Amino acid sequence: MNPVPNPSGASTMTPPQRPAVAVPPRAHTRWWGVRLHGRLALWAWPLALSLVMVLGVLVWMKAQDAADRESARGDMITDALSLEAQISSRLEAEQAKLRALADDLGKGQVAPSAFATHPLVLDGLRRFWVSVSWIGADGQLISAAPSDQLPPNDQRRVAQEDAGMAGHLSVPWRHAGDRADLPSGLLVARYGAAVLLRQKVPWWLASRYDIRLVDQSDVVLASTAEGPRQPWQAWYRVPMGPSMPQAWLELSSRERHAPWWRRWPVALMLAFVGLLSVTSLMLRRQMLGVERAEAAWRTEAAWRKAIEDSVVVGIRARDLDGRLVYVNRAMADMVGYRQDELVGLLPPMPYWAPDEIELAWQRHRRNMAGLAPREGYESRWRHRDGTPLDVMVFEAPFVDAKGQQIGWMASILNITERKRLEERERRQTETMAHHARLTMLGEVASTLAHELNQPLSAIASYNAGLQNALAGRDDLPERIQTALSRQGEQAAQAGRIVRRIREFLTRREPQREPCQVSDIVHSGVHLLRRDLARHGVTLQLALDAGLPEVEADPILIEQVVVNLIRNASDALQARPAGAVRRIDVQAHLAGAGFVVIAVHDNGPGLHGQGIETLCAPFHTTKPEGMGMGLAICRSIVELHYGAMDAGDSPLGGAVVSFTLPVAILSIQEDNS
Ligand code: ADP
Repeated sequence: MNPVPNPSGASTMTPPQRPAVAVPPRAHTRWWGVRLHGRLALWAWPLALSLVMVLGVLVWMKAQDAADRESARGDMITDALSLEAQISSRLEAEQAKLRALADDLGKGQVAPSAFATHPLVLDGLRRFWVSVSWIGADGQLISAAPSDQLPPNDQRRVAQEDAGMAGHLSVPWRHAGDRADLPSGLLVARYGAAVLLRQKVPWWLASRYDIRLVDQSDVVLASTAEGPRQPWQAWYRVPMGPSMPQAWLELSSRERHAPWWRRWPVALMLAFVGLLSVTSLMLRRQMLGVERAEAAWRTEAAWRKAIEDSVVVGIRARDLDGRLVYVNRAMADMVGYRQDELVGLLPPMPYWAPDEIELAWQRHRRNMAGLAPREGYESRWRHRDGTPLDVMVFEAPFVDAKGQQIGWMASILNITERKRLEERERRQTETMAHHARLTMLGEVASTLAHELNQPLSAIASYNAGLQNALAGRDDLPERIQTALSRQGEQAAQAGRIVRRIREFLTRREPQREPCQVSDIVHSGVHLLRRDLARHGVTLQLALDAGLPEVEADPILIEQVVVNLIRNASDALQARPAGAVRRIDVQAHLAGAGFVVIAVHDNGPGLHGQGIETLCAPFHTTKPEGMGMGLAICRSIVELHYGAMDAGDSPLGGAVVSFTLPVAILSIQEDNS
């Protein structure tokens, strides 16, 4: 973009009140019926997208958490079932051992006293059992172990294991062989439930779960944990097999499973959203600030453009190379180019006058050197349509915000009209001076004519007397008579000339009266009819019927008409003999207030001469012409408040015309 210079130092200028300038409306977005400001929506986008992302992550985490819980629960169920199977198989193995003991008892090989030392009993006690009771068919205790027979270490262990809740394994024993029909009894082995768990629960399982054996009424039989199950613990129970009826194996997870929304990633994400919200608000504030500044700038720019467009002074800015970097509309209109056509151009400029190119270059070099006159200088340019243009240019350095000169700024005034008026004034002054000289000359000529009139009359009288006196003399030589006669003629001619001059110079003030144009024209034509006939000129009158009366001095206007017809007749003499020589005198109403009288001919024409040239005093193309006829005609017409004009006639020659104001009376009559 081209730099937009600030005409007339607008940066320091603070207008009293800014006009309301229409600022282009801002873009709005319609989103689900909510009208969002485009820029505001822009700042909210990152926040909105982040929220969507965070929400997505949270949903995913929730789903993941549910899946994790489900999977953990599945694992727990599997672990519970597998542990239950192991414990059951262990109990079944113990029961098998007990059954083997029962078989031994049934065979009658074991005496009640030797029961406590029976290898199977001892082995069982050492291994797992806390006590074994041999109960007879009548429910009496036949024998029981342990007894003092156990080594001290085992006794201590058994005492420890016996401390907690116990489980029982019982198998019936029957007499074998021929005593099979004798009533049988029961063999009951007691074991520490805690020992069962301790022995069968692997460490990795114990590290993951609290494992309990509970009965039907939730009484804990054995547990790997210290206290009761906590409410937050996930748990699962499986019923124990027939080896341990009415008991349940319960696994409760040791891992404290925090709800998914109380985890670190969620906290981090919330912190992230919080931070983003803060930054978004800051961004919004920033954007609003920028937007306000932009709106102010737009108003400023529109305001400045309105000023630039309204000024009639041309403004142009050039860089240091002389390249046009800015022109306002007035400047562009002045030279007839568009602003964008001018911007970027380097000299020579298209509006420089072609005949003054060298001068324009010199001026340009001087201006670029910073030597342009402060009071401005005149220059001659050319409009695009070729019209010459006079301008007054005021150059000033073009300085940027840092105070550095970056070019030249100029204001340009179109002074063409002013120059034209000056020229016209100059010409008028010249003409007035000329007229003054003419007046003086007229006075001199008038005096001279007056003074010469007497002696010339005297010469004529003397000559007439002399001729009369010598009329009867025959001895008078022929030559003298002829000379006297010529002398008389010349004296008469001189007298006529002097009289004509006097008549001409004693021009009287016009005595205006309402009169008919046709009467004046007819009278003038009448005076000239013989002359015209002699010169073979045909004259036609085309006077509009019903023309209003004009306010004029008929004698003076008749002189004008006579002069114009005579000039036309003189011009027609240039036509070859035999050719048609034609003069048309026309009169018609022009507008409301004037009658135009025009004299057309088919002579050689005016060769482009305008009325100014023709009416210039002493302008003549005739060998014996004085060149005063049209000048006098014009002053007579102007004395009547009319105007003269000249141009090409449709007949092929010239037309010279003049206007006369319609008599006021005629206008009133028309109106009434
Ligand atoms: P003069 O008749 O003494 O020359 P004017 O002032 O009457 O002075 O005329 C000035 C000049 O204008 C004439 O010499 C002639 O060249 C020119 N002129 C006037 N009328 C006509 C015309 N109808 N056709 C051509 N030229 C004319």
